[in-house]
Amino acid sequence: MNFERKPLSAGLYLVATPIGSARDITLRALDVLASADVIAAEDTRTARKLMDIHGVPLAGRQVIAFHDHSGAQTVARLIAAMQAGQSVAYVSEAGTPLVADPGYELATAAIASGLTVTTAPGPSAAITALTVAGLPTDRFAFIGFLPASRAQRGAEIAALRDLPMTLVFYESPKRVGEMLIDLRDTLGGERQAVVCRELTKKFEEVTRGDLAWLADHYTGTATKGEIVVLVGRAGATTVGQDDIAAALQEAMKTMRVKDAATTVAGAMGLPRRQVYQIALGLGDKT
Ligand code: SAM
Repeated sequence: MNFERKPLSAGLYLVATPIGSARDITLRALDVLASADVIAAEDTRTARKLMDIHGVPLAGRQVIAFHDHSGAQTVARLIAAMQAGQSVAYVSEAGTPLVADPGYELATAAIASGLTVTTAPGPSAAITALTVAGLPTDRFAFIGFLPASRAQRGAEIAALRDLPMTLVFYESPKRVGEMLIDLRDTLGGERQAVVCRELTKKFEEVTRGDLAWLADHYTGTATKGEIVVLVGRAGATTVGQDDIAAALQEAMKTMRVKDAATTVAGAMGLPRRQVYQIALGLGDKT
């Protein structure tokens, strides 16, 4: 038995579950699922199956369905259970609840009621994709799903164009070709990007290239499975030494070399060490 049943204090336990491989569940997540007074799930069948795989007994407990359309009544019912001293474990269909998944309404209602909100952290497709993509991870923005309408999608991508950080998107396999074309057209074909498909599953695939190549590659071919698209930061290929030096000289008028390097590296999305070396060189000349 890989879990312990022990009394939990009252409150909401947001439990992360695997995004593919069932064995990616944490031991603590199993403890919480085994011990909570009430289990609530976005998809009750998936939750029961996961508990079954790991031998966690329901022991007479009901699994309550809770998703974005459950409404205020279900929130009120779960809040009332916590207020009566019960522990409520919430799992979304896969990954971390609230990350492009339900749970926000329940968590904010619990916080507003002065209840304890805690988590059994674990997998999330966004972090898993960042880990394997090979793009900078020091700064990133999670965007989630872009709007389905092409016009709205284009406007949203345009607003992200100059962010000096890795962008992380979720996308459906049906739309990925179209989405990559829109990314290419707005961000430029030379931007580096990565498509992560079926992470932690049998057919896991990580495809790296620039947006021009990826847009071509995924257009006209049927793609299956779950997908995360990551795009390298703005300026990664266009900032030259002269631009960095100019920004440093400006920053060094009011800051120490080290602070100037940190500020400029952050603003341009560049490694701090690289910028610091340039700053030291400038320091020698002044
Ligand atoms: N809460 C989840 C999390 O923490 O990652 C995300 C739920 S969201 C409804 C589902 C989307 O996550 C999928 O459409 C896909 O974009 C991404 N995703 C989930 N599992 C994945 C996997 N194994 N490989 C690649 N992407 C995945």
